[in-house]
Amino acid sequence: MSSILIVPIRPVDHAALTQLLAPLKDIFHTSAAIEEIKYLDPAFAFDTYRNQYNSTLLLAKILGTYPAAGGKVIGITSVDLFVPVLTYVFGEAQLDGTSAVVSSFRLHEFFYGYDPNPVLEQQRLLKETVHEIGHTFGLIHCHNPECVMHTSTSVEEIDLKSERFCTECAGSI
Ligand SMILES: [Zn+2]
Ligand SMILES: [Zn+2]
Repeated sequence: MSSILIVPIRPVDHAALTQLLAPLKDIFHTSAAIEEIKYLDPAFAFDTYRNQYNSTLLLAKILGTYPAAGGKVIGITSVDLFVPVLTYVFGEAQLDGTSAVVSSFRLHEFFYGYDPNPVLEQQRLLKETVHEIGHTFGLIHCHNPECVMHTSTSVEEIDLKSERFCTECAGSI
């Protein structure tokens, strides 16, 4: 089993990243750490027309900048991400590869006009991070509504699933 490196993409809530380490170690049965020296500046991926950041460009940059060394490299940011064919994405991953990127931008209750709920928002970040890492293991979307690999295009759908893989998906990790 390979290790997990979290790369902070500015700006990002470092405390939220720290809180991911223990559950990631537990779910993937591996070591997990945060890149504390070389943070990624996403300015190059900013799209002035959309006022969002291109997640595919960020993914390529992560791949070219941080050696996976046999493990997984996951960029996490609080900026809003998009891919050209979609309004937004919570994250993007290299299927059966090494890298992924996740955004907390649309995981916050504040974004939808509600009061902050740090516990719920941290759970959402964990689920989306586990989901994208799952894609790097070659997993596609799962029909089990409780499985973390179930597709989610809204926070309501994220809240319905767990942060765990179903038995079938767990077999591929
Ligand atoms: Zn997915
Ligand atoms: Zn599953």
